[in-house]
Amino acid sequence: MEKNIAVIKGDGIGPEIIAEAIKVLRKIEKKYHHVFHLTDVLAGGAAIDATGCNLPQESIDQLLASDSVLLGAVGGPKYDDQPPANRPEKALLMIRSKLGLFANLRPAVLFPQLADASPLKESIVAQGIDFVVVRELTGGIYFGKHETNGDQAVDVMPYSVMEIERIARVAFDTAMVRRKKVCCVDKANVLDTSKLWRKVVTDVAKEYPEVSLSFMYVDNAAMQICKKPSQFDVILTENMFGDILSDEASMITGTIGTIPSSSLGETSRGMYEPIHGSAPDIAGKDQANPLGTILSVAMMLKYSFHLEQEAADIEEAVNKVLDNGYRTADMMSEGMKQVGCRTMGDLVASYIE
Ligand code: NAD
Repeated sequence: MEKNIAVIKGDGIGPEIIAEAIKVLRKIEKKYHHVFHLTDVLAGGAAIDATGCNLPQESIDQLLASDSVLLGAVGGPKYDDQPPANRPEKALLMIRSKLGLFANLRPAVLFPQLADASPLKESIVAQGIDFVVVRELTGGIYFGKHETNGDQAVDVMPYSVMEIERIARVAFDTAMVRRKKVCCVDKANVLDTSKLWRKVVTDVAKEYPEVSLSFMYVDNAAMQICKKPSQFDVILTENMFGDILSDEASMITGTIGTIPSSSLGETSRGMYEPIHGSAPDIAGKDQANPLGTILSVAMMLKYSFHLEQEAADIEEAVNKVLDNGYRTADMMSEGMKQVGCRTMGDLVASYIE
């Protein structure tokens, strides 16, 4: 397979974690005889430094010409005085919009080796945590009308059938390559948008007879994620609920350094990135945990290129490294072997063979 991948190294620890992810990608390329053409694309702080603009037109053109996008992280205190439209993080919102990325997938996977890091009780963690939050990303209350009149304010939460259908399909497609369970989270006892979600999601479910569908109110879902996370496979939800629940889901796995994410649209092109930021406090110190970025590469291979075995190889290699007791500083616990970002990347890459 031959693919063009746009790589946004970004700021802070971005270039360090991307270097390790590319090391692993190159091993996969060699092992399976694929050809991955990588193009460095400027966005965020690095783009401001080079051109004055957080997302130059040339970068947008390069992203649109790619088969998929891998991102480290953008931002940092250096850019705090930029006007809102030219802030590094704004570049990410613009990329999502330019690439039509309306779905955000965030897996909540607890590596058993890191179980101590979870704030949940041992008895709950022992049942396993392995689910994905599929969040609608470009509709709902964040994109509806916001209005303040004197002592009153209104935020509007619009959703159309088309917007719900397309995100529902992403959730069902995701469930098809997992344990075939979708739980749609809403507030259908109160919100009209949620009632529409239930109707549309029920209709889309008919196209996926192998997938079982359930519904849950968001307040209950927030409790169930803490109480019995093992019950979930794919959680499908709208933008604001997804924003909150995906953070809760990350939290119960204990470390933000290991969690990948993807943003997907109508085409197979997605943007893949770790969930954490640019960690300016540890940038340039070889201390960053590259596993979230390495696992983002696995997600890219699986969801954009349908290279499931290759993705599984990366996940297995990460598991082996953890099994063998290697930890970056953020995951460190007693009796484990502390390694830096580069060594962690080398170890994962070495297990690919
Ligand atoms: P952060 O995620 O960068 O850091 C929070 C804490 O987690 C820090 O102590 C950091 O050292 C640690 N951390 C984060 N990633 C780590 C890793 N891979 N390995 C080890 N430790 C890690 O969040 P923040 O400090 O709130 O934000 C820093 C900058 O990143 C800000 O400019 C923010 O806007 C930006 N940001 C970017 C993205 C993105 O690019 N998608 C997301 C969130 C924040």
